[in-house]
Amino acid sequence: MVFASMARDVARALVPVACAGCGARDVRLCEECAAPWWEDPQRCEADAPRLAREERVALPVWTVVPLEGVAHRAISEWKDRARRDLDPFFCAAIGRAAQALPRVAGDVAVVPCPSRPRSVRRRGTDLPLLLASAVRRSLAAGAIAASLEPVLSIRAGDSRRASSARRWETTSIALKRRPAAPTALLVDDVVTTGATLARASDALEAAGIAVVAALTLAAAQPPGVRRPAGLGWESGRREVGHLLGRGGGASGA
Ligand SMILES: [Zn+2]
Repeated sequence: MVFASMARDVARALVPVACAGCGARDVRLCEECAAPWWEDPQRCEADAPRLAREERVALPVWTVVPLEGVAHRAISEWKDRARRDLDPFFCAAIGRAAQALPRVAGDVAVVPCPSRPRSVRRRGTDLPLLLASAVRRSLAAGAIAASLEPVLSIRAGDSRRASSARRWETTSIALKRRPAAPTALLVDDVVTTGATLARASDALEAAGIAVVAALTLAAAQPPGVRRPAGLGWESGRREVGHLLGRGGGASGA
């Protein structure tokens, strides 16, 4: 134990720990920067233009926090600077948020959005898969029959020199196999335009799977948007109850 703590001290001296949100020393995420992650999740699909569908209700999307301020910095440290020491924190945060979602009766497939192999290599882990695993554990702890189903694959557009918008147009998301559960909850780290969630949802629904909602850690907001806290949550609860009721196999609670 002495050696372990010495090794930790040496490691800390070499790579000082700093709060991923505000940069405060000797803490991974200070209390103040951690606080927003324990609020109830909020609905955010209205801010994701690619989720809007003609004559269809957009996929309900919950996010733990808006992608702004110290939360944005913490996410960037985690995703872009491979702060693997933050994995347990973000897993705990999304797990708790999952418990605040409306209940779905019957079995639920927790489906992570697919990651590109390049991103997994760079980060040393598959972030959506990591989060989906935490969501599954949390739902199961709440007596919901949830299974982890990484059934989606992503194929990148083939032109490396194309603009990122063009590259995205030629990217496809496909189903590797059909999940066993009839309903799915999609999980991703960050939602921006909603294009990934829309394609993931389409791939599942084409196979007859009802995608009831998506849950993300953070959601980019259009410039200038400030939603009153809690507003999306209460209205969202009713809408999802309606969606589930229409299918006849589940009820909102
Ligand atoms: Zn901080």
